[in-house]
Amino acid sequence: MSARILDGNQIASAIRQEVSAEAKALAASGLRPGLAVVLVGHNPASEIYVRGKVKSSEEVGLYSEKHTPPENATTEQLLALVNDLNRRDEIDGILVQLPLPPQVDSKRVLLAVDPAKDVDGFHPMNVGYLSTQRPGLVPCTPNGVMEILRRSGIEVAAKEAVVIGRSDIVGKPMAMLLLNANATVTVCHSKTHDLPAVCRRADILVAAIGRAGMITRDFVKLGATVIDVGMNKITDRAEFDRYFKGNEKREAAFAKNGSTLVGDVDPAVVEVASALTPVPGGVGPLTIAMLMSNTVRAAKLRRGAAVAV
Ligand code: NDP
Repeated sequence: MSARILDGNQIASAIRQEVSAEAKALAASGLRPGLAVVLVGHNPASEIYVRGKVKSSEEVGLYSEKHTPPENATTEQLLALVNDLNRRDEIDGILVQLPLPPQVDSKRVLLAVDPAKDVDGFHPMNVGYLSTQRPGLVPCTPNGVMEILRRSGIEVAAKEAVVIGRSDIVGKPMAMLLLNANATVTVCHSKTHDLPAVCRRADILVAAIGRAGMITRDFVKLGATVIDVGMNKITDRAEFDRYFKGNEKREAAFAKNGSTLVGDVDPAVVEVASALTPVPGGVGPLTIAMLMSNTVRAAKLRRGAAVAV
């Protein structure tokens, strides 16, 4: 068996086009959706993510603005900024890029974001909406996984789904979304006993762990759908050879950059799964597309429009 590769770039592009059409329609009625991104200090990875988010906002026709408080910003200064953004009517979405510097009380800052503008879906109010199936804002990465499944025609209802990882950002909301879609859901973590055996029960297996290539063929039932959320940078030649030896495209990129990205799933799983998301080009592109979608959704929700749960 060789798995169908689920192309995240293609799905993200379709979503961006839909969001762009909605943003244009809202703008035509005088309500251009607006996103404010807060980037504190100079974390290089965060700078790259924020650049991608601002660029994508412009491409789909959202108003966007970037706030860049200095590395030594205090909790109080960030609270003042968030409160100001909460008050401004032209701002529909507020995204505070994590991680925040160590002197900042991150939980307090995130809690200060108006739940109606919380486009990351991290506020406890939105977590509650998700778990009680009320319309709210859902975290972008797991929401993107649901779009991949839906748009690839992969049935979720009545299936056995296993999620590896229980973070607030990916694992837990992922499990809740699958449960809301009527899957039978098991959530695994670092203390799970006999992880491979639990994973082999899955018709849909979602890996959100942060460990390169951990999910090998042993973890996968023949014909399962495997969704790889992990993004791990590898720089070690031996590790590279383990996954990509003989892959000319990867070889060229590794030679040029000295690193490559691998997911939590061993690429050899392609031989047992029926469908698989690649890394890169699988779940990753959906995260920004869903942020765009959440900003338009927030704009509509704030103005009392009916939206799907
Ligand atoms: P966290 O580190 O917050 O959570 C990792 C989870 O994996 C924890 O629940 C942990 O268990 C579990 N875990 C760790 N080791 C094992 C193990 N050996 N066996 C079973 N479970 C284990 O990570 P995130 O949820 O934030 O991210 C997960 C991955 O997804 C990362 O690679 C990250 O880079 C990627 N990611 C990708 C995104 C994208 O856009 N594609 C967006 C967000 C994240 P425990 O709770 O017991 O510690």
